[in-house]
Amino acid sequence: MSTPLIEIHHAQVVRDGRTILSVDRFVLLRGERVAVLGPNGAGKSTLIRLLTRDVLPIHTERSRVLVDGDPLKPLFEVRALLGIVSDALQSDYDRAVTVEHVVLSGFFGSIGLYRTGEVTGEMTRAASEAMDALGIGHLADRTMDTLSTGEARRALIARALVADPAALVLDEPCHGLDPSATWHFRRTLSSLARSRRALVVVTHHVEDIVPEIDRVVLLDGGRIVADGPKRDVLTSERLSELFGFPMRLEERDGAYRWW
Ligand code: ADP
Ligand code: MG
Repeated sequence: MSTPLIEIHHAQVVRDGRTILSVDRFVLLRGERVAVLGPNGAGKSTLIRLLTRDVLPIHTERSRVLVDGDPLKPLFEVRALLGIVSDALQSDYDRAVTVEHVVLSGFFGSIGLYRTGEVTGEMTRAASEAMDALGIGHLADRTMDTLSTGEARRALIARALVADPAALVLDEPCHGLDPSATWHFRRTLSSLARSRRALVVVTHHVEDIVPEIDRVVLLDGGRIVADGPKRDVLTSERLSELFGFPMRLEERDGAYRWW
């Protein structure tokens, strides 16, 4: 049996007097592969920021965010367990830092390397493995500001993976990619999903829900409106209601499209 990696209980996030997220229960098990699907503004990124404690829920008797069963896990350990890639992170990295340094910086939670002396041979080996796994080994010496959006995204994923986190969390991973980069990237998503680590893909594109993802959480207006096996959750009726237009969902070999 898998054990819970993260549990959120009765968490409410309020901004400008408005509840932007209200979650009664969300549990991510070790090794689970989950998609969080919902329209713009549904609260998806807020849910992710709750996991990393970038936002905190309103304090009540019942509100709890547990990591590895621990409500008080030190922030540094929480962040080491979760490898996260978001657009916000990507804009932080549009600068003259080499890809290799960006990937190595994953060991230190920094943007670039400020103490190269602390990099061990083992770290360098792990960085090169992570770059190879993302197909960017040849870009190791290029600086981030010279990369395409897709290449930079891969560098940030390699950074997120380098210290072997228990979960990889990708917030809108295909955002800004052209059709060819998107197609290639979804294949990478599939191979990332085949590892033993947990994967959370946050998206508003049903096509990002690669066949290897088995559970889908639907978010709407800051609330979880469905959470379960992909086959049960992904229906034309549900998604038409969620996104507010009539759509027909089609599945082929575990991949989904809508019309
Ligand atoms: P999603 O990632 O699903 O597009 P977000 O989690 O980014 O949605 O945002 C959910 C809602 O909360 C949106 O309506 C957004 O405008 C609002 N929101 C997010 N962060 C803040 C903030 N710091 N202050 C005010 N409103 C916010
Ligand atoms: Mg978002």
